[in-house]
Amino acid sequence: MENWIHRPTRARVHLPTFKDNIQWLLKYRTSPGQKVFATIKANGYGHGAVEIGKVALSAGVHGLAVATVEEAIELREADIDTVPILVLGHTLPEGIHDILKYQLTITVSDTDFFDSVEDYLNKQDSRILGHTKLKVHLAVDTGMSRIGVRTVEELHEFIEKVQEYSWVDWEGAFTHFATAGGGSASYIEDQLAKWRQLEQHLPNSVKERHYANSAMGLWHGNAMPESTIVRFGIAMYGLDPKDALITDEDLPKLQNENLEALKPALEWVTEIVHVKQVPPGTKISYGATYESSENEWIATLPIGYADGWHRHYQTVPVIIEGEYAEIVGTINMDQMMIRLPRYYPKGTKVTLIGKNGHLMNHPSKIARDIGTIGYEILTSIGPRVPRIYLEE
Ligand SMILES: *Cc1c(COP(=O)(O)O)cnc(C)c1O
Repeated sequence: MENWIHRPTRARVHLPTFKDNIQWLLKYRTSPGQKVFATIKANGYGHGAVEIGKVALSAGVHGLAVATVEEAIELREADIDTVPILVLGHTLPEGIHDILKYQLTITVSDTDFFDSVEDYLNKQDSRILGHTKLKVHLAVDTGMSRIGVRTVEELHEFIEKVQEYSWVDWEGAFTHFATAGGGSASYIEDQLAKWRQLEQHLPNSVKERHYANSAMGLWHGNAMPESTIVRFGIAMYGLDPKDALITDEDLPKLQNENLEALKPALEWVTEIVHVKQVPPGTKISYGATYESSENEWIATLPIGYADGWHRHYQTVPVIIEGEYAEIVGTINMDQMMIRLPRYYPKGTKVTLIGKNGHLMNHPSKIARDIGTIGYEILTSIGPRVPRIYLEE
């Protein structure tokens, strides 16, 4: 379990915090009868899909959503076998064996997938279907311009053609909002109107009709109940989709009750592995872009851009013993240097993301400082960084 003995860089995931976030969302941000799917694509937004998926299920979610078939297989192979797993992205027909074998629910935008599978079955092996049906959700493009049918005509074409495939179980349809987490509020209304118009044409047998994500759940609750499934992602991990820092003071805006805030569940830490005092005029790191101006304590940290601490995080200070320390010189692939406020020995803990003393490197704050979104900060944490799961 303590698989970081060779290098002290690790992401510590606080499972109770994650669970609390989900339970808060289930209690205050969903309606009775509504299902919740935990979105755990991209390795559970960097937290580790298998562990996070299991905790989400124990916290009461009804299904899981991922981006790719490979991600779904990883979950099934880890004995997550009874709950629905919805693959949200585009899937290739060549994977039909796996999709059926692992009982995945896939997303389609048209009937091309079915045509290709039929072709394949005629040529290869028509027995693979057996008695299992392929569960599908139809993507509906109401303004994201990503995947999905866009017009009533396209929808009718789908409805007509899908009947030719007795092995398809058309279970759901969904859309996705472009501005629910930021941007024009009227665009949400436009998308909702388009969704409602298209949705009327769906056959009654298509039971799941959904569009809600974190932003919808947090900020546009009045439109929520119509969505039979809520696909919560970033909020479960404790971040606001707009990277507003959700703090205790923000809560009254969320709900007029005295509630626990959503809190980031992940902490990214390392330790000093080398420390020295350098005289003025010492150049540091590739490109020799930094030069010390006095006697300075320089520490080396075993983390670099290959871990997902990108070169452009240069201006993000790390935290040591409750004080900020600046990164000096360029960030290397595997290591980087910081200037200490005073001497600290090897083995001193350094926080990249999370709390240290009274300071907090909130992933949303880092994102705002360098001009990206919290999603990208979390999903950038690379596979080389061990995830440590804390039960309390
Ligand atoms: C990623 C994704 C979600 C989850 O979004 P959050 O903003 O993280 O809640 C929901 N639906 C679809 C289609 C997605 O791609």
